[in-house]
Amino acid sequence: MLFTEGCIICGKELIYSEDTNKVKCLFCGAEQEGNVQCPDGHFICDTCHQSSAFEVIENYCNQTDEKDPGKIAQHLMNHPSVHMHGPEHHFLVPACLLTAYYNQTNKPALKPGKISTARNRASAVLGGFCGSHGNCGAAVGTGIFISIITANTPLGEKEWQLSNKMTAIALLHIADAGGPRCCKRDSYIAIQVAVDYLKKHFEVELPLSPITCLHSDRNKQCKKSECNYFSKSA
Ligand SMILES: [Zn+2]
Ligand SMILES: [Zn+2]
Repeated sequence: MLFTEGCIICGKELIYSEDTNKVKCLFCGAEQEGNVQCPDGHFICDTCHQSSAFEVIENYCNQTDEKDPGKIAQHLMNHPSVHMHGPEHHFLVPACLLTAYYNQTNKPALKPGKISTARNRASAVLGGFCGSHGNCGAAVGTGIFISIITANTPLGEKEWQLSNKMTAIALLHIADAGGPRCCKRDSYIAIQVAVDYLKKHFEVELPLSPITCLHSDRNKQCKKSECNYFSKSA
């Protein structure tokens, strides 16, 4: 759900006070003085509010210490620049996975470089790839993730196999969910499959809470109860 009035995270009416309070941006973590706030404390700074989806994804992932890639994805999906559907999901998927992976393995200092690489690579996966190339960009995003953590190249051996197999397995699960595409559903599937894959092949276990989609109302083609992530109350 994306709210056009009130708080953009929860839709509650904003409170304007005479006194200034210290508020912390939900996307970049910057603190500033302000006199408007959501009753639940949600706040987005002007810079983040005006940022492109790619910028918000990169900035948020670099500063968060969250280890659950599903939670990172859902938080980012609340930002107004992350549209219901769009190629920003091709970057969102590897960015969330890299963030959770480097936070979980206690190497957060590696995130800026790796996430920037993922951004460059994901930029080449254009919108509508699933329809035009038979290759959903969320699945490609899992291949980008494994390629980066294994430092794969076209000449890699084991890492080449692991990277390509990752994309293949994610794509198979996404295809099995059936068309039409849903960038939210396909991102959730990609993340879930990548978490399983990471545990099996890399012995790295990431926390992953059950995902409930909050975006059904925005998606005209939502398959509702046919989708594993659909919530009637959302
Ligand atoms: Zn709020
Ligand atoms: Zn901010």
